[in-house]
Amino acid sequence: MPSCLVGLGSNLGDRVGNLLAALAAIRTEPQFRLQAVSSFHETKPIGGPAGQADYFNAVAAVQTDLSPLELHAALEQIELHLGRVRGERWGPRTIDLDLLLYGDCIVETADLVVPHPRMGERRFVLAPAAEIAADWRHPRVNKTIAQMLADMPAPDQNESAMRVMTSPADIQATVLKHRESGVRVGLVPTMGALHEGHLSLVRIAKQRANVVVATIFVNPAQFGPGEDFGKYPRTLDADLAALSTAGCNLVFVPAADDIYSAGFSTYVDPPGVAAPFEGACRPEHFRGVATVVLKLFHLIPAHVACFGQKDFQQLLVIRHMVRDLAVPMEIVACPTVREPDGLALSSRNRYLSSAERGQAIGLSRALDRAEQMVAAGERDSAKVIAQMRNILREAGIHRIDYVAIADPETLAESPHLDRPAVALLAAHVGSTRLIDNSLLTPPP
Ligand code: AMP
Repeated sequence: MPSCLVGLGSNLGDRVGNLLAALAAIRTEPQFRLQAVSSFHETKPIGGPAGQADYFNAVAAVQTDLSPLELHAALEQIELHLGRVRGERWGPRTIDLDLLLYGDCIVETADLVVPHPRMGERRFVLAPAAEIAADWRHPRVNKTIAQMLADMPAPDQNESAMRVMTSPADIQATVLKHRESGVRVGLVPTMGALHEGHLSLVRIAKQRANVVVATIFVNPAQFGPGEDFGKYPRTLDADLAALSTAGCNLVFVPAADDIYSAGFSTYVDPPGVAAPFEGACRPEHFRGVATVVLKLFHLIPAHVACFGQKDFQQLLVIRHMVRDLAVPMEIVACPTVREPDGLALSSRNRYLSSAERGQAIGLSRALDRAEQMVAAGERDSAKVIAQMRNILREAGIHRIDYVAIADPETLAESPHLDRPAVALLAAHVGSTRLIDNSLLTPPP
């Protein structure tokens, strides 16, 4: 059965989603056997109208009994089945499937030329192809794909080089290779629906590492029954564009069954700091967080991982887990990024109606009041908490899960503000649950 290389490209709509849909179609097509898939390379468009979006390109190795012309027609059928939208030549398209190589065959007909006539000039074909078929030989130029890639001019400095991976084994192998060659790796785990807060983590990671890996995974295990797992915003294409602009190098986007594969049954029992506050309101939450974060730490053995102080208790849970289980990873706490009026950025803010958006400012106002009271010499936490609750109520927020002042290392509640503490709160604004926190430093 001949082995073939198929090129995939998309620069319209949900680009990586389109590539994944095409791969799923190839996988389920009985006449194909999908052998390997490269990572997805972000690529600047070549030719075509100005201002079109960057592409994502990948290469798949496929075995088939179909003839080259039949295979070409079958790929076209998949494009049509996926509802390919394509305007002018070289213009944006949702999905493009090209037959690049068909064993040693050389085909030259009016409808089809194989090997693909321009594959030798295209880094966005050769680079992904070299990941899965480095020693395959191009029958016309009689060079391996690796040699053809090496013969290409060096990539343009401005050329986007972000890559997306969906396979746990591939991301792990890639990061281990970076480590072995002395490259310092930074990690930014996220659930997507990215905003400036997430991007600030990427920028901080870039200052501390040569290669930054972000992950996008809406982790089912950290959502309780009746929580917003189903409606959590999923904005993959915009997330990838934002990560690329922020200078992210690699993005890991696993499917749920890549992380929780059949028979998965090992969970992390989270540390003691997981018990109060969020842990009391969302009983399984930190078990899910600790489990997925530890798994991500193994799949992406970075030197340093960045987490937002916005999720203060989560940060502590991770710090304690890393210390208790001797995980060789430096954990960096990054400051909370806020809207100009003080509201902490959160993926869940997009659930808020405009009236609720007005109410939500109560959270940061309550924290501001706590800071002011402590700066003015107040030492009684109960008084500060009472004021914070008042401010929430004045803002129209009545469903308050907790308002607390605690030790920033242990999360034990601090009745007296005689040393640094953290004020933490969680409240429902309409049907949206928001959390925020602020460090309190009593004057000496
Ligand atoms: P999430 O996608 O909500 O799981 O968040 C991923 C990471 O981004 C976590 O480390 C969060 O603490 C961090 N993060 C979320 N919101 C902010 C923010 N407003 N400022 C800084 N970091 C944030």
